[in-house]
Amino acid sequence: EIFPGDLSGNPQQRQTPKMVFSTVKIVGFEKPELIIFNEKLAQEIGLGEIENQDDLNFLNASALPENIKTYSTAYAGHQFGNWAGQLGDGRAIFAGEITNENGKKTELQWKGAGATPYSRHADGRAVLRSSVREYLMSEAMHHLGIPTTRALSLSLSGEQVVRDMLYDGNAAYEKGAVMMRTAPSFLRFGHFELLSAQKETATLQKLADFAIKNYFAEIDENSSTKYAEFFQKISDLTADMIVEWYRVGFVHGVMNTDNMSILGLTIDYGPFSFLDEYHLNFTPNTTDLPGRRYAFGNQAKIAQWNLWQLANALYPLIKDEQQLEKTLNNFNERFWQKHDEMMAKKFGFDVVLEGDAAFFTEVQQLMQDLTLDYTLFFKQLETFTQEKESKLYFKDVFYASPTTENLEKFDSFLEKYFGRFSKNTISKEESLELMQKTNPKFILRNYLLFECINELNEGKKDLLNKLQHALENPYEEIYPEFSVKRPSFYDGQTGCSTLS
Ligand code: AMP
Ligand code: MG
Ligand code: MG
Repeated sequence: EIFPGDLSGNPQQRQTPKMVFSTVKIVGFEKPELIIFNEKLAQEIGLGEIENQDDLNFLNASALPENIKTYSTAYAGHQFGNWAGQLGDGRAIFAGEITNENGKKTELQWKGAGATPYSRHADGRAVLRSSVREYLMSEAMHHLGIPTTRALSLSLSGEQVVRDMLYDGNAAYEKGAVMMRTAPSFLRFGHFELLSAQKETATLQKLADFAIKNYFAEIDENSSTKYAEFFQKISDLTADMIVEWYRVGFVHGVMNTDNMSILGLTIDYGPFSFLDEYHLNFTPNTTDLPGRRYAFGNQAKIAQWNLWQLANALYPLIKDEQQLEKTLNNFNERFWQKHDEMMAKKFGFDVVLEGDAAFFTEVQQLMQDLTLDYTLFFKQLETFTQEKESKLYFKDVFYASPTTENLEKFDSFLEKYFGRFSKNTISKEESLELMQKTNPKFILRNYLLFECINELNEGKKDLLNKLQHALENPYEEIYPEFSVKRPSFYDGQTGCSTLS
């Protein structure tokens, strides 16, 4: 059993100075319908199976017992580089915390369960399209081994939600949805930015103490440098997460400071995308044009910029500019060191040698100039040998037909690669294993999500089930039909709107 009961209400939208959170009552849905339930995750976090209607009502945000306190939190943030003031959980509502048999705690949160005091002018609802995207992508990231919030359930809310206006002035209705997501904590940089901006230093300190106590057991609570260590940890976790994004070609799309987790979790899946063809300039977010602030190649720099904002927010607790600057500089060092180690693994190199960093930069340019599919390129490279003809072996990896000049460039790259490869001290088999563990065979491409959503809108679940199976095993090739370039019918379709 999960939770039984009944609950209803409607919050007023407002500014909430001095508040870290506000109690919010869910409105509930009349005819919700469960689409997916993540049984494995439910087991892992200590939640049982779905046994009755009360359990379903809980997952669907439709009814609750009165003893469950539901709330939304206030945070602030820098959006697209500008201070945005108070934001907050506009459509996320805390639904409880659960402890599993090992004592591990997990927070549960609905997304799309209705308006909160932080919804500003929006409705607190979510549409099926954006909810399917978040559900599947957060699970895909998890199975790739990347720190992320997770998805427990996805339901149709039974409501129609308006998002876009048609040219004739009529509203375009979409199916509404509610998902339940989980994380050890949903604390963001923005939570600290808000309290700092409001000069609520005592509360800021309380929140930092709470975070250290609950999520950073390795920091000594009695140490005089605990807040500096806290910031250092967040910086390290963030650097490591971004390296992982580069490994698989993930572009978040909206790296505002309110979308940055203090635990280095990938959070707030909006207009994200995996790369199809490799390009540092690629952004899936149409509202990020023409600036491309959050483009693929900018993500490390932006993460560091976001950490600057967090440093400013934590300054009243740390009061040591040099220490903060040191951490921020460390971010670069750590990021590049880990990045190069990661790239080495992608190529099957056991260690990073002198000259490798330059080699990786050269490859980035090559992949970009030759319009190579990032995932398929590494997949083919695993099994390529010099006896094979590159033009044929890699033919399905190019988006634009390669010119003779480009093919020559490609061949001289391959020669250089094999030259470098011969300096490995591990065996060919070990090297292959390294590549296979590092390079995914399956990525959840945007066109697949697009097709899956179209099917779900027609009430079909076949592709959804198949994608679920594939994304749980991303280092295997279960469905060869997914190991192809983005089809041309999807060209020009980029992501979706942020406010979804
Ligand atoms: P995002 O771009 O998704 O990170 O959202 C930025 C801010 O807008 C956050 O405070 C969200 O909670 C809020 N927001 C986004 N969509 C909605 C919605 N449909 N209803 C209420 N608030 C929203
Ligand atoms: Mg957000
Ligand atoms: Mg969002």
